Parts: sequence; structure tokens; C-alpha cells
Amino acid sequence: MDYQQILEQIHAEIVPTLPQGRIADYIPQLAHVNQRSFGMAVCDTQGRFASVGDADERFSIQSISKVFTLTLAMQREGERLWQRVGREPSGTSFNSLVQLEFELGIPRNPFINAGALVVTDVVLSHLGDAKAALRDFARRLSGAADVDYDYSVAASEARLGYRNSALANFLKSFGNLENHPEAVLDAYFHHCALAMSCGELSRAFMYLARHGSNSDGAVITPGQTKYINSLMLTCGTYDAVGDFAYRVGLPGKSGVGGGIVAVMPGMFSVCVWAPGLNASGNSLAGTRALERFATLTGQSIF
Ligand code: GLN
Repeated sequence: MDYQQILEQIHAEIVPTLPQGRIADYIPQLAHVNQRSFGMAVCDTQGRFASVGDADERFSIQSISKVFTLTLAMQREGERLWQRVGREPSGTSFNSLVQLEFELGIPRNPFINAGALVVTDVVLSHLGDAKAALRDFARRLSGAADVDYDYSVAASEARLGYRNSALANFLKSFGNLENHPEAVLDAYFHHCALAMSCGELSRAFMYLARHGSNSDGAVITPGQTKYINSLMLTCGTYDAVGDFAYRVGLPGKSGVGGGIVAVMPGMFSVCVWAPGLNASGNSLAGTRALERFATLTGQSIF
């Protein structure tokens, strides 16, 4: 398979569509990015790597970090985690409050914000310094020792993070946070503010394409890998998850920074970045690019 040629074809097709969609500006610092940015990188289980466009430029990974936090929490809690968070698609926006009240403080899944706050709480309880833990984990998985937080993005979100604050306080009122909401929010905002490139993210996600292992050995078990990939397929792109599965046919996780990572178990991990978002908060051009990638490579899990 000539990944390089496929990425170049996709790049040429996608460039004219980049002005479509809307950059997230509810986190003011995210609005400073150039809407014409586009990067894509793929890494496969035979050690091949290809990239195109701005694949080396770091961007705010935002909710893609929820896969890393979930992995750390599953390593430590295993099945017990599911007493505090569900495994069903939400059908609502990623930062919805109504469902949480209705369902008595048990978030639908670990990828909506409420669920990720519970997962962050678990990591905080187990590891103390959750910020250092996640940054070091991302460094190890990507092989890039200088991966770090963009502190201006974390501060920008914290300043206006009233909705996430409401979710955290709600969770606490239901007894579903062990730590103080402020401590959980601080870790969560930093995790979302991790800055990584498409190349780094595609490498970091390879453990999900390799049944839980990377070149250093096992990160999680093959069974846990199946769980995480299944959750990405059913919950990774929020209320657009059905459309994403229909068009792309791969487990994927998006973030409001415009990144999406998708995994073909046993074969490859691919990351795309294009900051203009659709109404569900997923990269518009990124979703199209992944749809084209699945078509041109002839690969999907279906
Ligand atoms: N930090 C963002 C938020 O909590 C993450 C959302 C996302 O990427 N979907 O709103």
C-alpha cells in the first residue's frame, strides 16, 4: 500500500474545503490557529510511516487526551471503573448537563466531558500528580520526549470553563468524584491542553492497533484494547458517532482542536488535523479526509 501517495491525493482534494466549518472559540486561545492548516499522518504495524501537510505542527489535542486518561484509569481500576461511568453513546453534545441530572450522576460514557471528569478523578486518586502522569504517558507512547502542555490553552479554558465546572460540581453532589472539583478540573483542562502533532499522535495510538502493545511491551491487555476501540467506535465522536461510523468505518476519537485519530486494529493508526469543526465539534475536513482514507486504502473494520 502506498500510503504516501494516498495522503497526497487526499491533501489535494481536501485543501479547497478547509475554509468550511468553524474553529472552536469557546476556548479563546484555540481561536488563534490558522483555519487553513491541514496535516495527516499514518503509522502501520509493519513499521511504515507517511505524512503530509502540517503533520509535524503541534496542535491542542483536547478530547483526544480522553483516550490516554481512560487507558491510565483502566490499567489501575479494570472493570471497577464501570460502576462510576457508563458505556453507551450519549446522543447529546459532549458537554451536556441534562443527561447527567437525569441519570443520577453516572455519565453515559468516558468520552463525554462528564465521563472524562470521572476518569480524571480516578487517575488523580491513583497517581496524585495526574498532570505529570499524563504528560509522561503521552511522551512514552509517542516517543517524543518534549511533548508538553500548552499552558496558555489550559488557562484560557479554566478562565471560562463554567460549563465543565458545573459538570464537576454536579458529579461531586452525586458522590461521583473523590477529589475536589477544582483539582479534577485543573487536571482535566491540562490534559486537554496537551500539544501534539499528527505524526506524534499516530505513533502514540499504535498500541490500539497492536492489541495493547507498543515497542516497549504491553500498555494494556488485548481485552482492554478491544474495550477502548469499541468505545471509540460507539462514543468517540459524540452525537455524530453514527455518521462517523457510517462514513469512516473505523474507531476514532476527535477533539475540538480539530484533530481526529482513527485506528484499524491489527493494521494502522491514522491522525488528521484540520481546525474547522462541524456542529458536533468534530473536524469537518478531518472527517472527510478519514472517509477518503478508508475508501482509498479499502480498509475499515466492516
Ligand atoms: N476541553 C474541551 C472541553 O471540555 C474538550 C472538548 C472536546 O474536545 N470535545 O470542552
